[in-house]
Amino acid sequence: MFQEEYDVIVVGAGHAGCEAAHAAATMGSKVLLATLNMNNIAQMSCNPAMGGIAKGQIIREIDALGGMAGIITDETMIQFKMLNQSKGPAMWSPRAQSDRMRFSEAWRLALEANPNVDFWQEMITDIVVTNGKVTGVKTQLGITIPGKSVILTNGTFLNGLIHIGEKKFGGGRAAERASVGLTASLESFGFESGRMKTGTPPRVDGRSLDYSKMTEQPGDENPGKFSYTKTTPLTHQRSCHITYTNNDVHEVLQTGFDRSPMFSGRIQGLGPRYCPSIEDKIERFKDRNRHQVFVEPEGWNTVEVYVNGFSTSLPEDVQAKAMKLIPGFEKAKMFRPGYAIEYDFFPPTQLKHTLETKLIENLYFAGQINGTTGYEEAGAQGLIAGINAHRKNNELDPFILNRDQAYIGVLIDDLITKGTDEPYRMFTSRAEYRILLRQDNADNRLTHLGNEIGLASDERVKEVETKTKSVNEIRAFFTSSSVTPEDVNPILEKVESSPINQKTKAEKIILRPKISIQNFKQIDEFKKYLDNYSDESIEQSEILMKYEGYINKEKDMADKLKNIDHVRIKDDFRYESIKSLSSEAIEKLNKVKPTTLGQASRISGIKPSDISSLLIFIEK
Ligand code: FAD
Repeated sequence: MFQEEYDVIVVGAGHAGCEAAHAAATMGSKVLLATLNMNNIAQMSCNPAMGGIAKGQIIREIDALGGMAGIITDETMIQFKMLNQSKGPAMWSPRAQSDRMRFSEAWRLALEANPNVDFWQEMITDIVVTNGKVTGVKTQLGITIPGKSVILTNGTFLNGLIHIGEKKFGGGRAAERASVGLTASLESFGFESGRMKTGTPPRVDGRSLDYSKMTEQPGDENPGKFSYTKTTPLTHQRSCHITYTNNDVHEVLQTGFDRSPMFSGRIQGLGPRYCPSIEDKIERFKDRNRHQVFVEPEGWNTVEVYVNGFSTSLPEDVQAKAMKLIPGFEKAKMFRPGYAIEYDFFPPTQLKHTLETKLIENLYFAGQINGTTGYEEAGAQGLIAGINAHRKNNELDPFILNRDQAYIGVLIDDLITKGTDEPYRMFTSRAEYRILLRQDNADNRLTHLGNEIGLASDERVKEVETKTKSVNEIRAFFTSSSVTPEDVNPILEKVESSPINQKTKAEKIILRPKISIQNFKQIDEFKKYLDNYSDESIEQSEILMKYEGYINKEKDMADKLKNIDHVRIKDDFRYESIKSLSSEAIEKLNKVKPTTLGQASRISGIKPSDISSLLIFIEK
C-alpha cells in the first residue's frame, strides 16, 4: 500500500506530533502523520488553555522559530491574560483560555493546507529497524510503511489505563483506546520504559451553574497575543469564574478515599506534583478548609465547562455528590467524571539533544512519551524533533538551542541530562538566565535561527529587524530628551514618586519603579513621537532601559559558562581512566554520555570537582 518511502513518519497527532509534522513538512520533507483518530488532532486532553507561567514563554519561542502553536492559539482563544505583571518582566507569562474544538479544527486545517503532509488513521504497533537504523513502522493492520526517520509522539496512550474509583479500563484518554504493542516493540530493542500518571477534573454543563455565587475573572482589558505574526487580537472575550470548596465538600470526598485508586496503591506511576488531585490536596493540606476552583468555559459557544482545581479519580458518585456542595454548583449536571490515567514513558536520558534516540539511528521521541506534561512542553519537543529529523536526512548539522537561548533549550537539556521520574513541567525557576529568556524578546532570540533553517519566513525576519530598529530609536530618544519639572511632576505625583526640581534626562525618570514609557504619552512632545511606534516596541525598549544592568550581568555569566559548553567530550570517552572520579560519577556520566563539559556539569550528582578533573584530563 505504501510503496513510497516517507522522509519523516510522525506517530501521533497530539501537540508534539503536529508541530513535528508541520516543521519537517514546511522545511521540505515528505511527511506522513499517522494517528489513532483524525477527529482528535491536537486534542487538549486536559484543560482548554495554552500558556501560563514559563509555558507562555515556550509558545512565544515556538512561534518565533516558525512553529504553529502561537498562531493556532491566537486564532482560537476566548480569553487572554498576561500573568505576573506585578513582577519583573522575566516573569511575565501570556496565558490563553482556548476554544477546545476550534483549536483542534484549526490545527487540522493548518496541516491539511500543507501539501507535504499525508495522513493515516491507524494504530502503529511496531518500528522497523535495519542495521541499527529505523526504516519504517508497522500498523495494526499489518501494513509496513517505509520511512527514513520516525518520530514517536504517543502522549499518554502507551498501555494507557484509566482509573475512576475502583473501576479501571484501557484507554489513551477519555473515550479513546490505548496504544498497545509499541512499548514492547521498543523494549525488545533495549529501551528502558517507566510508568507515570496524571489526572483530570469532571466536565459539567454550564447551564446548570449559578454564576452569581462565583467571582468573575475577565480577561485583560487590552488583550495581547502569542504570535509575532499579524494575527488579530481579541475584540471580545469570555470570562472565567472562581469559587471554592469547603469542609462539607471535603467530608464527602473523604467518604470515597477507601475506593481511591491512588490511596489504595492501585496506581503505581508518579503524578505531576504541581497539578495535584483534590483528594491529594485535602490529604496533604489538612489544615486548609477550602481550595480554589476555576470555572473555565471550553469554548465560545459550547456550554461545556472545565472545573479546574477539582481533578479527581474518586468514584463518580462521590465526585458528583461532593461537587454539588460547591457554591454555584448546587444543581450541577456532569458531562463526564474526572479520572486518572497511567501510561508508559521512556526515560529521556536515552535521547540526544536532537531528541534522536541513542540506541536507534533516525528514531526520535517527543512529547509526553519523554516524561513531560503539558501541551507547550510537548509542542516544543515536537518542533525540535521535526527540525532535526529533516536536517539529519539532508545531512545538515543538528539544530540545538542552548540554555541561554531559549526555554526550549533548558527543557531538552534538563530532560536528556537529568532525566525525570515525575511528570516534568517547565517553570521559570528551571532557567538560570530568565531575564534573557523573556516572552517579549523570543523573536529577537530565535527568528533569525528559524529563518536560517527554512522554517520562519523572510517576512518574519524583516519584522524583527523593524522592531529592533524601533526599539533602538525609542531608547535613543529617551537618552537624548530631557523633561522639565512642569512636564513630569504631575505624572510623578500620580504614582507617588518624588518630584524633580530641575531639567532631567527622560531615561533617568524611566528607571524609577512605578514609571512606564506609556506615562510619558501625557507630555505632548513624547506622545507625538511615541505614537509612531507599536506597543510591543515601546514595551521592549522600556524593559531594556530599566533592566539593562541585570541583562548584562546574565549575559556575562552565560558567556563565561559557555566556554565549558564548547568543550566537547568524545562518545567513547573512558571515564574509568580518571582516578579522581567517584564510581557514582563514572556511572552517571556513562549513563548520560554528555557531549560537552557543560552538559556533564548539569547532571544531577556531578560535582564541580568532577568537572575540574574532567577538564584537566580533556585538555591534556
Ligand atoms: P498527546 O496530546 O497525548 O497526543 C498523542 C497522540 O498520539 C494522539 O493523537 C494519539 O491518537 C496518538 N497515538 C498514540 N499512540 C498511537 C499509536 N500507537 N499509533 C498512532 N497514533 C497514536 N498536562 C498538563 O500540563 N497539566 C495537566 O494537568 C494535565 N492533565 C492531564 C490529564 C489527562 C487525563 C491527560 C490524558 C493528559 C493530561 N495532561 C496534562 C497532559 C497533556 O494532555 C499532555 O502533556 C499533552 O497532550 C502531550 O502532548 P503529546 O503530543 O505528547 O501527546
